[in-house]
Amino acid sequence: MVLATGGYGNVFYLSTNAKGSNVTAAWRAHKKGAYFANPCFTQIHPTCIPVSGDYQSKLTLMSESLRNDGRIWVPKNPNDTRPPNQIPEEERDYYLERMYPSFANLVPRDVASRAAKRMVDAGYGVGPLKNGVYLDFKTAIERLGRSVIEQRYGNLFDMYENIAGENPYEVPMRIYPAVHYTMGGLWVDYNLMSNLPGLFVLGEANFSDHGANRLGASALMQGLADGYFILPTTIAGDLAPQLNTPVPSTDSPAFREAEEGVREQINRLLSIKGSRSVDSFHRELGKLMWDYCGMARNAEGLKHARQRIAELREEFWKDVKVLGEGESLNQSLEKAGRVADFFELAELMCQDALHREESCGGHFREEYQTPDGEAQRDDEHFAYVAAWEYCGPGKDAKLHKEDLVFEYVHPTQRSYK
Ligand SMILES: Cc1cc2nc3c(=O)[nH]c(=O)nc-3n(C[C@H](O)[C@H](O)[C@H](O)COP(=O)(O)OP(=O)(O)OC[C@H]3O[C@@H](n4cnc5c(N)ncnc54)[C@H](O)[C@@H]3O)c2cc1C
Repeated sequence: MVLATGGYGNVFYLSTNAKGSNVTAAWRAHKKGAYFANPCFTQIHPTCIPVSGDYQSKLTLMSESLRNDGRIWVPKNPNDTRPPNQIPEEERDYYLERMYPSFANLVPRDVASRAAKRMVDAGYGVGPLKNGVYLDFKTAIERLGRSVIEQRYGNLFDMYENIAGENPYEVPMRIYPAVHYTMGGLWVDYNLMSNLPGLFVLGEANFSDHGANRLGASALMQGLADGYFILPTTIAGDLAPQLNTPVPSTDSPAFREAEEGVREQINRLLSIKGSRSVDSFHRELGKLMWDYCGMARNAEGLKHARQRIAELREEFWKDVKVLGEGESLNQSLEKAGRVADFFELAELMCQDALHREESCGGHFREEYQTPDGEAQRDDEHFAYVAAWEYCGPGKDAKLHKEDLVFEYVHPTQRSYK
């Protein structure tokens, strides 16, 4: 069997992922024994359109390439209410250029995202909700001319104007980080097989290749490598001995058990007839994850989130309102199944984030930072893949460590100063 069912960023409710992206296939395999590796490693992309209100259900990514020419800044005075074009140069804080003179606006995604969060948390955010930073093309237009910028980014500028209602040739864009990619996923070996014999996992659904922080463009490269080059070779070794073996029938006990399990869950969800919509639970779960297991985490927040998620999961199973019936296509029912799995995954993400007492890549623990606020890694104790084994509903998962061995290039503390 091959799972290539994508990432689980929608556990945060708001993300740049397609609305239908979900963890169900991977999670159900995990509950049948497949290890889930590094679930807390989430990539937050720095260049997205900020949240515009409570009823939003999706976030939009503006391409990373915009940072090649755009300059990121906030007003030096947090109470500055002037339109951006009226704020003089000397009253602007080009904070990435100030903090990271060598890399400036081109620092990696996690560093750019955390810096934007620091600015917004400190009250320097811009826009009606003060939840963004400016990405400004004025200097680039002066240097290169409007037509070059139009050639490079015209489609993105049009998209931004359609969504934000502002013309980025005239007014700086407003951007803020958003959940984008999940580096964790089902554990696989070099053949892309999980620890369950015969279950192969490809693409974003597995944990391999990206470590704690993915570089731009490498997800599609991984998808291509997994699908074109690796699996066609490795799956043959699994299939060959099974030639002429009959496919298990739908009368087999395993099939019956699985079918019965699905039927039971559907009936249970439909019989609750509670008072809260599936989306309202999902939104609350997403907010907990964003606040406590998002761009920055700490032990106190993660413990609080684990407890609150478990309570919310119980409320969900007592009070969710699933519309419609189980006999036809029912999107409310479908979503309820997805959200039930997100609850359980969220608890594992917090457990993983709590146990990893270091910062690395997309995992930033506030207790583990250098004096100037950068990620403080601890390779002596945490240079391993954390592969978690499911141990039953509401129970802590069991940790299996796969040590990382670096023969030629050794991890070091990063500096973009
Ligand atoms: C807005 C955006 C821009 C991006 N830009 C880039 C980029 O420029 N470069 C780059 O490298 N990466 C980029 N990425 C990341 C990259 O697109 C994804 O990581 C990649 O598409 C994942 O591919 P995949 O095949 O593993 O999963 P997906 O593309 O998510 O496909 C999974 C498929 O499985 C289906 N599925 C899920 N569950 C089930 C189930 N239970 N049963 C049946 N089917 C199921 C889904 O419907 C979907 O069709 C971007 C991602 C986003 C969201």
